[in-house]
Amino acid sequence: MYDVIIIGGGPAGLTAGIYCSRAMLGTLILEKGAVGGQILSTAAIENYPGVPSVDGFTLMSNFKNQAEEFGAVIKSGDIVSFSYNENTDEKIIKLSNGDEYSSKTLIIASGARPNSLNIKGESDFTGKGISYCATCDGAFFRDKEVAVFGGGNSAIEEALFLTRFVKKVYLVHRRQEFRATKILVERAKKNEKIDFVLDTVADEFIGNSKLEKIRLKNAVTGKTITLDVEGAFMYVGYIPNSESFKGVVDMNEKGYIIADSETLETNIPGVYAAGDIREKMLRQVATAVGDGAVASFSVEKYIEELKNK
Ligand code: NAP
Repeated sequence: MYDVIIIGGGPAGLTAGIYCSRAMLGTLILEKGAVGGQILSTAAIENYPGVPSVDGFTLMSNFKNQAEEFGAVIKSGDIVSFSYNENTDEKIIKLSNGDEYSSKTLIIASGARPNSLNIKGESDFTGKGISYCATCDGAFFRDKEVAVFGGGNSAIEEALFLTRFVKKVYLVHRRQEFRATKILVERAKKNEKIDFVLDTVADEFIGNSKLEKIRLKNAVTGKTITLDVEGAFMYVGYIPNSESFKGVVDMNEKGYIIADSETLETNIPGVYAAGDIREKMLRQVATAVGDGAVASFSVEKYIEELKNK
């Protein structure tokens, strides 16, 4: 039995891996995709203190190496269920390949995945013009016109990134106001390659074998227009990866896990939530790292108390 199992190998999970293994706890990190998480698809992170500007892959490779150097074990695994034995205090994780792992404590750091608009044509043209990752696919649209959907930090940052390759970016957002920070919005407004299309939503993605056009609808007047673009990048928020914990671990109506703000403990003793999966105000690498450290400290204390029982 492991002292701690960490679900997710993004910034929160890998930080927890560093702290827990450094505290000499038997530590297993389970990651279903690429170790590093969502931030891997970010071309430039410029607000992680101490690292002026770095790409997600480089930053996360350093996190991973540091966790492994301290002895954390990282395995590939897709969780299908979590159960908790109240009598033995054992936390049990079942994976899709049938493997089962148990631990004294658990840190849920499984993050979130990109949301989709679920409108006509979106699934048909995903990978054929529609992308959820500008860093991965931006270069395919060199000298072409593309649309970016969303008004948060991701949409603005990725629109700016795309201007390195494309001829024009139409930034389509459903309102006039932006969730994104002012500095990013101002930068985008100054960029001649970015055209703002506000109060507007996507109505249909149209094409033959590939995306050719998008029908847009004005959210105020209802008027529709067609945009001739070969690419569309979707940044319309995220869905928490918390399905495997439903019915056992308390979460809010959106599926974000509710944890104590001081200890990060959930409703289950010895189970903690860290990073983007947690109900909280700000989701950044810096806050995920903080969560990973706090959850690890709580794990250490919990295991210490078990020894004294
Ligand atoms: P977000 O902040 O949740 O923004 C999602 C955007 O999508 C919002 O503008 C929202 O519009 C729009 N949207 C949602 N559903 C929609 C729908 N059905 N139709 C049309 N538009 C829709 O997501 P995010 O930008 O990906 O950021 C996620 C988190 O990561 C945030 O906490 C963000 O600060 C953080 N982040 C930080 C940085 C950075 O600091 N450099 C970079 C990237 C991300 P409304 O505004 O109208 O709701």
